[in-house]
Amino acid sequence: MSSFLIENLTIYNNQEKLVNLFDNKIKSLKIDSAVAIVGQSGSGKSLTLKTLLKLLPSNLKSNLKYISNFELNSSNISFVPQNPFTSLSPLSKIDKQFFCEKNKKIKMLKLVGLEKLVLDRFPSELSGGQLQRVVIAIAISTNPKLLLLDEPTTALDTKNKELILNLLQTLQQDLNILMLFVTHDILSIQNVCKNIVILKDGTIIETGFVKDILQNPKEDYTKQLILSSFKNRKHRK
Ligand code: ADP
Ligand code: MG
Repeated sequence: MSSFLIENLTIYNNQEKLVNLFDNKIKSLKIDSAVAIVGQSGSGKSLTLKTLLKLLPSNLKSNLKYISNFELNSSNISFVPQNPFTSLSPLSKIDKQFFCEKNKKIKMLKLVGLEKLVLDRFPSELSGGQLQRVVIAIAISTNPKLLLLDEPTTALDTKNKELILNLLQTLQQDLNILMLFVTHDILSIQNVCKNIVILKDGTIIETGFVKDILQNPKEDYTKQLILSSFKNRKHRK
């Protein structure tokens, strides 16, 4: 069973602290099954993931302290970025973008609900929803212990959003994989994540079970996140 506990995560731009996760009451973050990090734009969600991926922009410095039974390296950690249209190479067929053997590619595609003929397609020949499935298939093909997702449904339409969220929920249950799911849309992760972390100005201000936080948010900021997610939903329907 994989375990991952973050005890310190700070990110600096020269003297300015952009992120300090545990500057408030909350002093550590345990990633247990699937955890959502929810915050407004600019709250430090993407930088937090980039620190774990060791992919911070070169002008920024970070301090990271964690306790885990696996190393944070590319064989244990995978990443699903926001925009499936830009995360694959446009010049290669899907087949060439996987790094495993053929049978495994087909198995992974099947897991995300795609047929093997997709391997013979270029990214431009697939829809956004199909592309994000491919990106997820590639991400899980290395058997990661930890999967990081940065707004994986934001670039998709409502129907594909639902499909991808259902898929992630199934994968989470079927594969033994820790997930850290970043989003600004708090209602979207209800069925995927058990725990939620609310990020404001680079600091965790509230955390708990998703259903508790949705039913009984303590912070005004969290109430606003719920309200704006709710309005967004009504607007879409
Ligand atoms: P989120 O993903 O929650 O929208 P980010 O993690 O991208 O937010 O950014 C958090 C904060 O750090 C923002 O205020 C952003 O402007 C700032 N920031 C992001 N990247 C850099 C950078 N390379 N240099 C300086 N500041 C940055
Ligand atoms: Mg971001």
